[in-house]
Amino acid sequence: MSTRIAFIGLGHMGGPMAANLVAVGHTVTGFDLVPAALEQATINGITVAESAAAAVADAEVIITMLPSGRHVLGAYQGDETTPGLIASAAPNTLFLECSTIDVDDARTARDLAVAAGHRGLDAPVSGGVGGATAGTLTFMVGAEAADFESAKPVLEVMGARIVHCGGSGGGQAAKICNNMILGVSMIAVSEAFVLGEKLGLTHEALFDVASAASGQCWALTTNCPVPGPVPTSPANRDYQPGFAGALMAKDLGLAVNALESTGVSAELGTLAAAIYRRFAEEDGGSGQDFSGIINTIRANSAVTNYATPHSCQYPALPSSCVSRPASAGTATSGGKTPISRQPSIWGTISSHRLSTSVSPRRKGTSISRAIDQAWNARYTLTCCRYSASGKSP
Ligand code: NAD
Repeated sequence: MSTRIAFIGLGHMGGPMAANLVAVGHTVTGFDLVPAALEQATINGITVAESAAAAVADAEVIITMLPSGRHVLGAYQGDETTPGLIASAAPNTLFLECSTIDVDDARTARDLAVAAGHRGLDAPVSGGVGGATAGTLTFMVGAEAADFESAKPVLEVMGARIVHCGGSGGGQAAKICNNMILGVSMIAVSEAFVLGEKLGLTHEALFDVASAASGQCWALTTNCPVPGPVPTSPANRDYQPGFAGALMAKDLGLAVNALESTGVSAELGTLAAAIYRRFAEEDGGSGQDFSGIINTIRANSAVTNYATPHSCQYPALPSSCVSRPASAGTATSGGKTPISRQPSIWGTISSHRLSTSVSPRRKGTSISRAIDQAWNARYTLTCCRYSASGKSP
């Protein structure tokens, strides 16, 4: 059965979603502020209206797919010069709000629609542009049971999974919680890969272990932040999105709003929001896939090469470097460790592996040789000192 649908917001997501509705025979009238989006919509068989109000005038269902809550509430309510969707729609129209917005904004939008004699629900999506194009999105729906049943046939055209998450705002709540998991887990996976690199693990070895062990998660097995193990992940195409860093920053901002309004103590979620905000706003990650966060983590990781192998024979000892007697030299991660058991040779090594792999065990092994070995082993030497006196520096 063909339904008259108005589609407001024909961008990266809305464009292909509307096209899928046309493809199964629905009558779709669309509006967007950007002319290029309207041109593409026309090619896809959508009837383009002159305004949002004109697009919804004859609609049975109105779908909004807009950037933020501000845009949604603005479109619903209109202003002095532009009539809003609510006032322009026929009575009892079903409003499907599919953007990712604050839970509170979603509830406000629905309340405004209901107060004007309409029906409304929130139905944000996951699955990205690929899912929108393929019609395989997941819809998370916050709705009264009857409204959910009314919306389901339309949503099923655009999505493969339609989940009823509770009453008004429930869909946005599920979306925000899911993306908080995603943001935190992508940071955790990326940190683990960078740590693995520093410890000499190949990406493949870590992937083979973690993808079949307790570290398994979507961020690792589907959107792997290093090129190679998952050929379809954005890391293999220079971090082209995918799911852009700006959108992850936005969604985690929504999560923080929800954390603050509910009083939930979520240290990782809050930190992930700050990390992705910096990634998007300061580190050029706005238009990259959010898995590009690994490059920021790698860039921020200490490169503590105070010396090259040969010039390291007599460097100044940094004030932070305190050696201890060789006899007490049990290797510890990040600790102060003699690099030789010869009492005249002292050093500080950042990786406990270094001491086991390069400590000159035989009397007479030179410190420069030990350092060469360290360098070749690609472990980080924070400082070293040769003491000809044979006394502890
Ligand atoms: P987009 O910027 O590509 O599209 C939004 C469109 O809305 C733009 O074309 C813009 O011109 C239009 N618009 C803004 N105000 C308007 C108004 N008053 N009237 C008509 N049109 C208006 O964004 P997108 O990637 O399509 O994302 C849309 C929503 O979907 C966002 O809330 C986003 O968080 C969410 N989302 C995006 C993805 C993704 O991968 N892109 C995934 C899941 C959810």
